[in-house]
Amino acid sequence: MLDILRRIIQEVNSARNLDQALNIIVQQVKQAMAVDVCSVYLSNDVQQQHVLMASEGLREEAIGKIRLAFDEGLVSLVASRAEPVNLANAPEHPRYYYFPETGEEEFSSFLGVPIIHHRKVLGVLVVQTRNAECYLEDSVTFLITIASQLAGAIAHAAASGEIDRILAKKGSGTVDDSKPLRGLPGAPGVGKGTAVVVYPMADLLAVPDRKIDDIEAEIEIFNKAVEKVRNDITDLASRLEKRLPAEDKALFDAYLMMLDGASLPGETIGYIRRGYWAPAALRETIMEHVKVFREMNDPYLSERADDVFDLGRRILAHMQSENIKVQEYPQDTILVGDEITATMLAEVPTEFLKGVVSVRGSRTSHVAILSRALGIPAVMGATDLPVGRVDGCPIIADGYSGNVIVSPSKSVLKEYDRIIAEEAELTAELMELRDQPAHTSDGVHIPLYANTGLLSDISPSLQSGAEGIGLYRTEFPFMIRQRFPGEDEQYQIYRQVLEAFAPRPVYLRTLDVGGDKALPYFPINEENPFLGWRGIRITLDHPEIFLVQARAMMRASVGLNNLHILLPMISSVAELTDSILLLRQAHAELVEEGIDVVEPKIGVMIEVPSAVYLIDSLARRVDFFSIGTNDLTQYLLAVDRNNANVAELYDSLHPAVIRAIFHVVLGAKAHNIPVSVCGEMAGDPAAALLLIGMGVNSLSMSASSLTRVKWVIRNVSKKRALELLDEVMEMEDPQTIRQYLNSRFEVAGMGGLVRAGK
Ligand code: PEP
Ligand code: MG
Repeated sequence: MLDILRRIIQEVNSARNLDQALNIIVQQVKQAMAVDVCSVYLSNDVQQQHVLMASEGLREEAIGKIRLAFDEGLVSLVASRAEPVNLANAPEHPRYYYFPETGEEEFSSFLGVPIIHHRKVLGVLVVQTRNAECYLEDSVTFLITIASQLAGAIAHAAASGEIDRILAKKGSGTVDDSKPLRGLPGAPGVGKGTAVVVYPMADLLAVPDRKIDDIEAEIEIFNKAVEKVRNDITDLASRLEKRLPAEDKALFDAYLMMLDGASLPGETIGYIRRGYWAPAALRETIMEHVKVFREMNDPYLSERADDVFDLGRRILAHMQSENIKVQEYPQDTILVGDEITATMLAEVPTEFLKGVVSVRGSRTSHVAILSRALGIPAVMGATDLPVGRVDGCPIIADGYSGNVIVSPSKSVLKEYDRIIAEEAELTAELMELRDQPAHTSDGVHIPLYANTGLLSDISPSLQSGAEGIGLYRTEFPFMIRQRFPGEDEQYQIYRQVLEAFAPRPVYLRTLDVGGDKALPYFPINEENPFLGWRGIRITLDHPEIFLVQARAMMRASVGLNNLHILLPMISSVAELTDSILLLRQAHAELVEEGIDVVEPKIGVMIEVPSAVYLIDSLARRVDFFSIGTNDLTQYLLAVDRNNANVAELYDSLHPAVIRAIFHVVLGAKAHNIPVSVCGEMAGDPAAALLLIGMGVNSLSMSASSLTRVKWVIRNVSKKRALELLDEVMEMEDPQTIRQYLNSRFEVAGMGGLVRAGK
């Protein structure tokens, strides 16, 4: 059974669209369970109906036409109970509903299981047989497993409007092309432009569809790649000639035959002539061949599917590396991908980049932080976006709501043009605050600092009116190199930042790699990277890396004396005392070498829950605290900050997070040391209100959020912020807290700070 299940799931996963996937399911399940009928019904919430979408066994004409109201028939019973219904004689059941179009009277037994995604019933998978027998437990669980595997694809298709399109094709239903897809807010702002899909190397299944204008050029790209692969394989075969057993040698011959035969190249070229670009033409051909092999009953032959797939990947890799045409970015690029990385983002000329949409990740993923730093609207966790089919489409990314609209209608475009114009107006108005002091209406000064990490980023920070750099993430310069940067290289980088801001303070954080920040030359492969070797844990294990960095930082501050060193991921007193010893060692060495270095102020990031409870011990040993709410939220709530599946649970306005922050602030006050917040929460106008109320001394955020938060500070008194904090402390639910705080902005006529528009 497991093999059959795997094979069906594999086939469904390689289907190019939902219609194909549903047909595979109904055919394969009917065959595997030896039943007379297998059908899929999908639920339409708007019309409150379950629609027959695919069937093997019921009459073809019934598909798309049979619709059951939410309280009608056995299908609805399965959906409303959200559990299987297993009947030997369905026509006898009071909920049985008869449609003559289906030819259903012939069938007695009925097994229906709900298709559920994230607690929501999306449809029902049904099997029926002529014999009046209940289904065995094995069959029930088999069908439940299939339904659970299908659920993601259905949710995806429903969100992208694909189901409406299928129904329209079948002659029932209408298409709403402007239906938004729900993702997660990544970076504020609204971006409108052309989708450019970026995808990793040699990933055949990730190849998007793309329009072509020169068929012959595509054919040449393909032929060249095939030639290269042929040469690679011939070389490899001749090198291994003597060492290989005969059957492995035969594999190379089989590869070469496939490359020479009319089928693979011939079919691919056929696709290109029908308008596919070469990589997608290859994808289609290879997947068809893979399917044929997988369906073979002989295990040896069915395993050959993997060889065909491998061959396809090799050809694709050559096409990608040889495809001299470097990715071109239109002037209104919205970068779209399954997983957008910092490097993909950096490849687009900044003036052309109008938005980012990533299927994976969430608001606190580092790529979202980077987008925010660049002032680019971003939507993360857009899990329902059919990435393969949006390249070149007009697209809107709403970084406030997390909505993405592909091929928007004229009226939607007009509405967004209005919102974008309002945004620009609001940003320009807020820019007037740039040189105004960040004082509350009752005169409390709350310095606003910028978070940065990219060199090119210094000017936006300077221009934003920041009173310093509250968090300089040093890992970026490490990430874009091929090796660890040396002391002098680091010195140059840090000196520029310290000099640009002197005499204003700069908080340089020691290296915080691990988690979702990998160094290409220092691979860390872990099951749970966020709970693993990360931040200070790595640098304490490698004092040679830590000391070089500490020396570079201290040297860079000579004569400026605005350096503050920030230690990430501290979770115990021992880690702190060890770090301080190393910092003292670096300082002593420099003094010994005759360099006139003043001892920098040292502080810790409070971002691990244990640090919250050690606040007194830590406070006795440092000069300041900076609360890293991105990690603190993830670790307190046990919600991976990058995982779109649980992103709805990730909320820095969770009452537990608010209490933890307040505890830290009170601890800092008791020891008379300053406390700042440098996580993304500081740049969220609603959260900033609470942080002001708590008595946080300064806030550090992306340059693009600075004037928004300054408006908040200047328009609230410390006393009122404290009142709001008291009110919120009574609330138990993050959504209630957010809605309440956001409503305060609407009342003040500044709703534009927390949503799209003005
Ligand atoms: C944080 O965790 O809040 C923080 C500022 O650090 P980073 O986002 O770089 O982990
Ligand atoms: Mg952190």
